[in-house]
Amino acid sequence: MQAADLAIPGVRGLTPYLPGKPIAELERELGLAHIVKLASNENPLGPSPRALEAVRRILPELHFYPDGGGFELKSALAGKLGVESAQITLGNGSNDVLELVARAFLSPAVNAVFSEHAFAVYPIVTQAVGAVAKVAKAHDGSRGSRYGHDLAAMAALVDADTRVVFIANPNNPTGNYLTRTELHAFLAGLPEHVIAVVDEAYFEYVAVADYPNALSWLPEFPHLVVTRTFSKAYGLAGLRVGYAVSSPAVADVLNRVRQPFNVNLPALEAAKAALDDAEHLENTVRLNQAGLRQLGAAFIARGLEFIPSVGNFITFDLKRPAGPVYEALLRQGVIVRPIGNYGLPHHLRVTVGTEAQNAVFLAALDRVLAA
Ligand SMILES: *Cc1c(COP(=O)(O)O)cnc(C)c1O
Repeated sequence: MQAADLAIPGVRGLTPYLPGKPIAELERELGLAHIVKLASNENPLGPSPRALEAVRRILPELHFYPDGGGFELKSALAGKLGVESAQITLGNGSNDVLELVARAFLSPAVNAVFSEHAFAVYPIVTQAVGAVAKVAKAHDGSRGSRYGHDLAAMAALVDADTRVVFIANPNNPTGNYLTRTELHAFLAGLPEHVIAVVDEAYFEYVAVADYPNALSWLPEFPHLVVTRTFSKAYGLAGLRVGYAVSSPAVADVLNRVRQPFNVNLPALEAAKAALDDAEHLENTVRLNQAGLRQLGAAFIARGLEFIPSVGNFITFDLKRPAGPVYEALLRQGVIVRPIGNYGLPHHLRVTVGTEAQNAVFLAALDRVLAA
C-alpha cells in the first residue's frame, strides 16, 4: 500500500488551499520587477508603525516561549470588544480557530453546512476531519444579492446531524454581506445542537448601516462563535493572528484542542500594538472606501459586471474563462486571484490597493482585454 493511501479518507480526497501567488515567485518565474500583488486582500498601507515597533522591541526576547494563554492580547481585545477574556480563543490566523471549531465539533458522524462560493477554508476543515459537507446553493439574484449566502437554503440543509454552520459576513470571494435582520432571524432559528460560526474577517472594513456586529448577539446565542483577524484591516497577515469570541464554555472546548503556543511572540506583541493604532485603521478604511469607488467606477466604465463588495476586494465577471486573463495579467506584473476553485471560473478577484496600484491594475487589464 502506498503511504498516501494510508491517510484517513477525508484527507485522501483533500485539495490544499490555493493561496495567491507570492511576489517573489512571479519574480523568479518571469524575471519581472515592480510587481503589484492584489491577490490576497492584504492591507496596501502595510502594518501599523506601532506594530512594527512592538515587533522590533520584542526581538531580543525570542528565546522565550510566548504566553500560551495570550493574557495581555486577550485583555486588550476584551476591553476593546466589551467581552470577557474567557470568551476569547486566539489563533494562528483566524483559519486556525476555524480549524479548532472543526476539530472540536465535527466528526465523520456529523455534518457542517455552508454556502456555495463561501470561503475555501470551510470545506477544507470539514473534510479534513471526515465530516460531511452540506453546501447550500447561493442566491441566483432573483431574491437576495446574487452569489450571496441563501440563508433559507442553508437552514433547509440543517438536520439532526448538523453540528456546525459556517457563515462568512461579508463573504470572501464574493464580497456581499448579510443584513442584521436576516442574519439574526437565521441564528434565532437554528436548533440547539448547532454551533454557528460567523466569520467577520473583514468586519473593520464594512461601512454600511445594516451590517450587524455579531458580537452583540453572544449573550442571546450561547452556540455562536464570531471569528475575526489581524490579517486584513490590521495589516498583519504575515504574522498570523486571529481570534474567536464565543461563550466561555465554547472557548473552553476550543482551548482543549488548541496548540499551547499557537500564536507566536512577535504576533502577540504586534496585535496588541495594532489595536491601539486607531489612526492607522481609519486611514486603511478610508483608503479602501476610495479604492472601492475607483474600481467600481472603472468596471462600470468598461462594461464589466462586478459583485458589489463591502470588503477590501472586488470580484468581477469576464463572461469567459478567466484563467487566460489572469495569466496575461501576471505577464503585465499584476497578480490577482483566480477563483475557479470557488465555482466562479469566469470571475477574478482583485484586492483594493492604493490609488496608484489600482491604476496599474486597470491599465494592465485594459491592455490584456484589448489584445
Ligand atoms: C482572509 C480570511 C480569513 C482569515 O485569514 P487569517 O489570515 O487566517 O486570519 C478568514 N475568513 C475569511 C472569509 C477570509 O477571507
